[in-house]
Amino acid sequence: MSEETNKQGSLFQQVLMQMDIAAQHLDLDPIFLEKLRHPKRSLIVSIPILMDDGHLEVFTGYRIQYDMTRGPAKGGIRYHPQVNLDEMIALAALMTWKCALVNIPFSGAKGGVRCNASNMSASELERITRRFISEIILVIGPQMDITAPDMYTNEKVMAWIMDTYSMHVGYSVPEIVTGKPISIGGTQGRKEATGLGLVFTILEAARYLKINVNRAKVAVQGFGNVGACAAKSLDDHGARIVAVSDSKGGIYNEKGLAIKKLIQYKERTRGPLMEFEDGQPISNEELLSLPCDILIPAAIGSQITGENAPKVQAKVVAEGANAPVTMEGHKILMEKGVFIIPDILGSAGGVTVSYFEWLQGIQKYFWTLAQVNSKLEEIMSSSFRQVMRVCMAKKVDTRTAALMIGLERVVEAAKLRGLYP
Ligand code: NAD
Repeated sequence: MSEETNKQGSLFQQVLMQMDIAAQHLDLDPIFLEKLRHPKRSLIVSIPILMDDGHLEVFTGYRIQYDMTRGPAKGGIRYHPQVNLDEMIALAALMTWKCALVNIPFSGAKGGVRCNASNMSASELERITRRFISEIILVIGPQMDITAPDMYTNEKVMAWIMDTYSMHVGYSVPEIVTGKPISIGGTQGRKEATGLGLVFTILEAARYLKINVNRAKVAVQGFGNVGACAAKSLDDHGARIVAVSDSKGGIYNEKGLAIKKLIQYKERTRGPLMEFEDGQPISNEELLSLPCDILIPAAIGSQITGENAPKVQAKVVAEGANAPVTMEGHKILMEKGVFIIPDILGSAGGVTVSYFEWLQGIQKYFWTLAQVNSKLEEIMSSSFRQVMRVCMAKKVDTRTAALMIGLERVVEAAKLRGLYP
């Protein structure tokens, strides 16, 4: 936990504080608001794995279903050394507001295993995945809780999830997981969905702020699935991607990096970005304070804090990652007049196309890429405009407005269903 997280309380406490701020502007039933301050179900499991060298390691895994009012729980699975219960609960709560904001019939979940996936062999990762899914199988299901990719989990991991669940029940259940390969029931466009969805909201913000995306300078922290897809799409729109980074550091080129070559380099070598010949090495901290129009945090949480927010020079911070800005960081960015596309809006493209994938799986009827992307654009753009309408009507910032929309929808559904028993 960082010093600032300690000062401000845990990530979940920060999520609750944001929820309280949003609730102040709404007339919500206090009974259902109180219910939503607690995760519905939290499962912690042990995952004993024989590592390749023959020794046993026991990993800890989590699955949190924050709420199930508006439909099955939905959320990614993260493999990272910092995964912990508080973070999982906070991210599951954010998924709840995110699904409601883009108005898809899912509720929020999150899962993860505390491990260092980048140091593991493919067979170790497969054993972890299969044992983790077996341990949480009692609480997941295509109508109950649907898993998806997140940090350090990819299509391959989703395929193992689909297979493990299917083997347990005795028949194929592709709808248990989204973000799986197309050949086993995945959808067109899921891999790019979060990055592309973020870009749809950036285009809306640019129109609103009168920023010309063509030639706008963009810096991207985290060159994984979300960051690289957003960078590629913005590059296609003529933006200049001046800096990108990964966990080891980044590269900077004021004239704009050759993004497609960089993606090929990363796929080919899996080596550090800093060794790509086209730019000069910079640290992650330096990237966040570069002179640019649009800054995209697309790595881990709590990256823009009370300490470094004063140095941010971007006009727009577009949150591709979950919770990349702390509350203190948010306050400072607001005072500086930075326009924030909040995480529950900016990163909602992934779960939106996951919903399309789930629907296609249930109907056994598959869409074209053009159908997926046009429906994604419609949802992302209209969600952005709804957020802006609330911002103006209630004189609140974008994060509060987005949360107000999500929270109001969940509370309304909870109230209609009533408190059981
Ligand atoms: P990924 O594993 O594909 O990529 C993560 C990237 O972040 C990698 O380049 C990694 O090197 C980098 N990184 C890790 N630690 C870092 C650090 N300390 N500083 C800088 N870079 C660091 O993960 P992803 O799927 O692209 O997810 C990125 C973020 O987006 C996460 O916060 C995730 O929760 C969020 N998100 C992902 C999706 C999705 O569909 N994949 C959907 C919504 C939100």
